Amino acid sequence: MTPPTGAKLIARTLRDLGVTVVFGIVGIPVVEIAEEAINLGIRFIAFRNEQACSYAASIYGYMTGRPGVCLVVGGPGVLHALAGIGNASANNLPLLVLAGSAETSLVTKGAFQELDAVSFLTPHTKFAVRPPSLEFVTGAVQNAYRTCWYGRPGSTFVDLPADLIQSKAGAEFQLPKPENVLVSPPPKASGDPAHILKAAQMLRTAKSPLVIIGKGAAYARAEAKINQLVEQSQIPFLPTPMGKGVVPDSHPLNASSARSAALKNADVVLVLGARLNWILHFGEAPKWSPSAKIIQVDICAEEIGRNAGTAELGIIGDIDLVVGQLLTSLSSWKYTPSPPEGRFPAILAESAKKNEDKAKKAELLPTPRNSPLSYQRAYHIIKSALNSLSPIEEGNIVYVSEGANTMDISRSAFPLHHPRQRLDAGTYATMGVGLGYTIAAHEAYNTVPLSAGTKPKKIVALEGDSAFGFSAMEIETMARYRIPALIFVMNNSGIYHGDSSSESAWRELQNQTAASDTKVDGNGRNKGLRSTSLLYETRYEMLASMCGGKGYFVRTEEELERATREGFQSDVVTVVNVVVEPGIGKEIGFAWQNQGVKKEGQAKL
Ligand code: ADP
Ligand code: MG
Repeated sequence: MTPPTGAKLIARTLRDLGVTVVFGIVGIPVVEIAEEAINLGIRFIAFRNEQACSYAASIYGYMTGRPGVCLVVGGPGVLHALAGIGNASANNLPLLVLAGSAETSLVTKGAFQELDAVSFLTPHTKFAVRPPSLEFVTGAVQNAYRTCWYGRPGSTFVDLPADLIQSKAGAEFQLPKPENVLVSPPPKASGDPAHILKAAQMLRTAKSPLVIIGKGAAYARAEAKINQLVEQSQIPFLPTPMGKGVVPDSHPLNASSARSAALKNADVVLVLGARLNWILHFGEAPKWSPSAKIIQVDICAEEIGRNAGTAELGIIGDIDLVVGQLLTSLSSWKYTPSPPEGRFPAILAESAKKNEDKAKKAELLPTPRNSPLSYQRAYHIIKSALNSLSPIEEGNIVYVSEGANTMDISRSAFPLHHPRQRLDAGTYATMGVGLGYTIAAHEAYNTVPLSAGTKPKKIVALEGDSAFGFSAMEIETMARYRIPALIFVMNNSGIYHGDSSSESAWRELQNQTAASDTKVDGNGRNKGLRSTSLLYETRYEMLASMCGGKGYFVRTEEELERATREGFQSDVVTVVNVVVEPGIGKEIGFAWQNQGVKKEGQAKL
């Protein structure tokens, strides 16, 4: 056999690691790696911007439980991919980034796309390396693959200089044996038995116990054990936004509709794979009871004791194994609240009913004539149509959601029955992940051989109009790879809010801005467009029709229902541009961030 080039060796290493898809954008010199990979049967999904492909690779890691691989060019390609690296680190997603770089002999001379990427990325990754020669390529890629995956998942980086990619091995070069390249899944650790006993004892004696299920539990594939725990112990549970579906949302012990009441009243909280960060209000008062005892279960020791956590109660270990240990320790014990202290379930039920009634009312309120749809009404129509085409229990729809109102309101509007089927902007609240995540979901769920009786999954994205704009060109990527995703753009002509609900009034604001009119209005504000404004009713659906997909521009309930049905059945990418209420005059508020207390000077738009 002829000795391999660097490009071939890198591609072979990826194949031998079991990589079946690479997300990336090529250019000189990494195009040679992509070509070799394609020749070896690896799918190469070529994106339009490195941000989107780095996001896609990271969430592919979350969905499959194996590292996602991203290949980009050096310099600007690496800078753009930093977005995905930061997002992967913030969300603990396993991501391996490979990038080309300038010839080693030209370093510091101002070479093509020159960047000292290893120095640049060392603080942002678990591991960044440049193999010095062909002999070290396989080992470097293999170690980077293993390191992003083992322990707490994160990102790693391999820098591949042009001369290395293009060099040819000498005649004496020995190709590594595939079986020596393969990396086994990470070994798992059980929890400290003393802490397991203590946790079981605390749960047993709790008056108001609660289980919080995070995306770490979904990533750990601990759903069978966690369902058993909830079922057996009868403890109410609360999923985080991406922990939804680990236990079906329809479960009677689901406290999502009573989230605030659950956090405020729980006295012992078992946190399975979720950090006590802003999403969980740091585990602190006023959102939580100040005397709550928090049992954190995490794979990462450094996470234990953070904010309201404590080392005395924390358990380091794999969630699946730890929950198994807890099940054994709790044996047949069941939470049986008895009055007068056992008011917890009643408090939850009361609060849930209030919130559910409110949500139902908003959903069922028909859209007045000549008014735009509300988010709640639009989601009700979308959900009803989708559920009638694909029952929730079958789990054949994966939801992707990003934006402000779009994401917030959708979280409770679309119940899930299965884990890892709802992807959102995550811990970093990264806008622009949606289309990359949509492509990744298709790759994770639909390009693997489907076992008998399983259907391909429809990937449905609910995109705010601003969020959509960050990566909108990836619609062409979907068209090219025949990814028949159904994408709703919730179009309120703005970030958080639009500026006007009538075109003529909006045009007037535009004129004032164009004319640099500095006259103030009655509220002492300069006239013209606000910083949150987007073009009035942009026709985003044309991005689908321009590349052979289907586009729908929708204003009414009937149009939305029809577009949803047709879009679900469509075998090409479909964009449904839904005009929704602009929400003028509402505060830019965010329940997660401001602990529910209105801040002084909060913008009102
Ligand atoms: P969420 O966004 O749902 O709150 P986070 O991303 O904050 O979730 O937290 C997920 C946590 O899960 C991380 O701290 C991570 O270390 C942990 N984790 C990931 N995989 C495992 C596992 N197999 N076992 C235990 N903990 C895990
Ligand atoms: Mg918007």
